[in-house]
Amino acid sequence: MLLKDKVAVVTGGTRGIGRAIVMMLVREGAHVAFTYLKSSSDAEALVKEAAESGGKIKAFQMDVRDFEKAKELIEKVKEEFGKLDILVNNAGITKDKALMMMAKVDWQDVIDTNLGGLFNLTRNAIVTFLKQKSGNIVNISSVSGIIGLSRQTNYAASKAGIIGFTKALAREVGAYNIRVNAVAPGFIETDMVATLKEEYKAEIKKRIPLERFGSAEDVAAAVKFLLSEKAAYITGQTLVVDGGMAIL
Ligand code: NDP
Repeated sequence: MLLKDKVAVVTGGTRGIGRAIVMMLVREGAHVAFTYLKSSSDAEALVKEAAESGGKIKAFQMDVRDFEKAKELIEKVKEEFGKLDILVNNAGITKDKALMMMAKVDWQDVIDTNLGGLFNLTRNAIVTFLKQKSGNIVNISSVSGIIGLSRQTNYAASKAGIIGFTKALAREVGAYNIRVNAVAPGFIETDMVATLKEEYKAEIKKRIPLERFGSAEDVAAAVKFLLSEKAAYITGQTLVVDGGMAIL
């Protein structure tokens, strides 16, 4: 077990990549608090499955866009689990549209959730990490933030922002034994990708050297590596998990 008795917060744990990260953490011996927005039945099912595997786990319904709720969450986790070691900022949304069709609300929702949520959780967790002189943060970005995918100006801006945030914070807190890294997935088989048109998905697959979409577990494996002591000398980096799609 690589993360035995570590206490982790994962945002957006109910589905897709977040769910795979929660299950990976439990299997690696961590205790997990995960958040979700609406899917309470998925949250209950995950708590049950994880508890059956022997993990200490709790679900928190909260909106990552709410700074005060993020503050409360971090306090509650410390109270109930006794400490905090790991933060995985995973919650994210898309609202894809050509820029000329994009309403202000489509821009704002994506920025507020993907980038604002990351600020809200990290700003509140960092105080604890600085005081205890240890902490480990992994932020979920996207290849869209690296190469820019068309009809995703809002999403690409938020995900590129996450990479910049990761680099800046890694420099700021390295001296306090806090590592900050990002994972940038390509196309991963989750609800987010299920909404895309079949023709578009076929077109995308042609651009992936490994000729398939990834699984949520492929992404969780990268997160596991970055959170583990195997990555003890890695900070400020973005690990791309995309089947080669964004090879530069
Ligand atoms: P899903 O749509 O499957 O799940 C999103 C999760 O985020 C859910 O748990 C959802 O909660 C939660 N969430 C959404 N908005 C909020 C909010 N305001 N407050 C709290 N929680 C919220 O997403 P994926 O698993 O596909 O994606 C996870 C991350 O990976 C995202 O950051 C995404 O941008 C990134 N990513 C995904 C890729 C892919 O191909 N799937 C590719 C590259 C990056 P609820 O269930 O309650 O709605």
